[in-house]
Amino acid sequence: MSEVPQVEPFSPEDHQFMRRAMELAELAEQNGEVPVGAVLVKDGEIIAEGWNQSIGDHDATAHAEIQTLRKAGQVLQNYRLLDTTLYVTLEPCPMCAGALLHSRVKRIVFGAPDLKAGAAGTVLNLFEHQAAYHYADVEQGLLEDECRSQLQSFFKRRRKEKKNQRKATRFTSTHEAKKGQNNEG
Ligand SMILES: [Zn+2]
Repeated sequence: MSEVPQVEPFSPEDHQFMRRAMELAELAEQNGEVPVGAVLVKDGEIIAEGWNQSIGDHDATAHAEIQTLRKAGQVLQNYRLLDTTLYVTLEPCPMCAGALLHSRVKRIVFGAPDLKAGAAGTVLNLFEHQAAYHYADVEQGLLEDECRSQLQSFFKRRRKEKKNQRKATRFTSTHEAKKGQNNEG
């Protein structure tokens, strides 16, 4: 039996937009944030971009998707972002999935699944019972490996930094303690 050829479900434009989302994720990382980026596309053009800014903004809602939806609303002067596609490097969390539904985004494409908080099918699926007020197409797996390794290398580096920090603190405290003993002696 011959193997059925795998049909690439994503177009070259899809790739191009996800690559841009990855660049924005990179920007987030440069600012000390978890690297997640998003773009919103209407009629083949990016109308808004966003990246994770929760730490810098002291704002738990400042996820890449929310940032993008807010800007797009200003551009279109409408909270209903009809006939748009959102590209995001990581699967939306429940908050962002809810916001995407409220915004009437038509198509959502994400890269890597979020094993801890994914609300588009991984942990839960908010898009499952959406038909009542809005229907969005959700597609996953575009540049998945690259999006995942972008996140993984960030967390790996951060763990290492924290470990080194702990080591440095331990060294300083033992050093100080010894100094103290010497002074007493
Ligand atoms: Zn989110």
